[in-house]
Amino acid sequence: MKIVIASPEAVPFVKTGGLADVAGSLLREFRKAREEAVLVMPLYRAVKGGRFPLGESGVTVDVPVGTRGIRSRVYHDGNGAFFLEADEFFDRPELYGTAGGDYADNAARFTFFSRGTLELCRKLSFRPDVIHCHDWQTGLIPLYLKTTYRDDSFFRGTATVLTIHNLGYQGLFPASEMPLTHLGWELFTPEGIEFYGKVNFLKGGLIAADILTTVSETYAREILEPASGFGLDGVLRKRSADLFGIVNGIDYEEWDPSRDGHLPATYRKGELSGKQLCKQELFKSVLGDKAGEDPSRVPLVGMVTRLSEQKGLDLVIGALHGLRALGGKIVILGKGDERFQNEMREAARQYGSTLSLTIGFDEALAHRIYAGADFFLMPSKYEPCGLGQLIALRYGTIPVVRRTGGLADTVEDFHPLACTGTGFLFSDYSVPCMLDALKRAFCVFTDRRKRVAMIRNGMQADFSWGRSAKRYIDIYRAALGRRRE
Ligand code: ADP
Repeated sequence: MKIVIASPEAVPFVKTGGLADVAGSLLREFRKAREEAVLVMPLYRAVKGGRFPLGESGVTVDVPVGTRGIRSRVYHDGNGAFFLEADEFFDRPELYGTAGGDYADNAARFTFFSRGTLELCRKLSFRPDVIHCHDWQTGLIPLYLKTTYRDDSFFRGTATVLTIHNLGYQGLFPASEMPLTHLGWELFTPEGIEFYGKVNFLKGGLIAADILTTVSETYAREILEPASGFGLDGVLRKRSADLFGIVNGIDYEEWDPSRDGHLPATYRKGELSGKQLCKQELFKSVLGDKAGEDPSRVPLVGMVTRLSEQKGLDLVIGALHGLRALGGKIVILGKGDERFQNEMREAARQYGSTLSLTIGFDEALAHRIYAGADFFLMPSKYEPCGLGQLIALRYGTIPVVRRTGGLADTVEDFHPLACTGTGFLFSDYSVPCMLDALKRAFCVFTDRRKRVAMIRNGMQADFSWGRSAKRYIDIYRAALGRRRE
């Protein structure tokens, strides 16, 4: 099958969140399975100056954005990944914006990217069976195919699948940005891409893609409800017959405690002593070597997260007092909204001996936290899938998570008598409820037999990509079927 993965980010090139893991892993799995798959991404500064040698493809594409025509050189990595160059849009320190807010020209940037992806297919004479779009940044692609490119024979057989990684991010812009897209004003209606007086790029994809997917079955149900639908639940309900949940996987080669070069010691399910060394090293390096403190006796909680409203940081800050009373410590690595960065810094000043905070994006430290912590905390308000808990399971670090979205689908609550389960879940979004789950977790911490049983249960779970990639291929076939109906 000829597959185009259109994504605003992908590993190993550039990543701000789980979406990058999905797009990059799908490309790898499809190529392994000998599908004709390519990835298209913007050429960000981080990619241009990054560690991956890129070559010029010799192809340029001309992309209309508003009244301008932008000529873009196309680079490639020789392995299926193509990058659209437009320095005025992408030669910047960040992908979508800074801690202070989104880039003001995001509508132009991702109009360029969406249309550029289609123009690139034509220039490469790559006639896709399916274009798999990811999030709002590519939401216009399905809509272009149903409007601007409707009579274009090149794309006659092309179906589209749009994956919603996070409905909270929709690409909302003032109506005055509409002309950038070259889409007709007749589409600027509530049935089209208007959203309360604004243009909504994600909605463009939701109404036009042949199939919609999201990243867990629970989240696929949750977003049909007003409480989790971010105003788009009505649109989604209309399309509920075309909406599927496919849980993400993780790259089991990148995330492998038995040969992880970032760790001071490696370990495996049957031989966990290296995990203790990882904990000692992490403990000492981030919390200091306080006299009299034996790391093996202190339950250590880890978090690796975007610092955003979604991730439940208000609960974490509210629980620090209780966590200290329980004798636990927490190591947080995160980056994100200025507001949460400041609040977390303040909390770290107040609870210095309980909380270690690193602001930044740091792959190596992330690996050390996944390996060195005893528990991995994700108290998310909502969580479409979540990768952190899957990585934690793989590293024998017991997840403590809120029962929402993909967290509910991938972590099984511990049963103390049967010793089954892989983590601890709590339902109410509240500090006492979260502390209660941590208390249950700390009880297991002090019971070596139960703790080791849980670690092994988690390490045994299989969330590798192979299975999910196969499900996407089935979805692509279904999309093609619908397209040809
Ligand atoms: P989201 O996509 O909502 O940010 P996920 O749990 O799906 O959340 O994926 C987050 C991914 O990004 C995980 O692989 C996590 O380890 C990684 N990550 C998040 N923040 C950081 C950070 N500050 N440093 C390193 N890795 C991070």
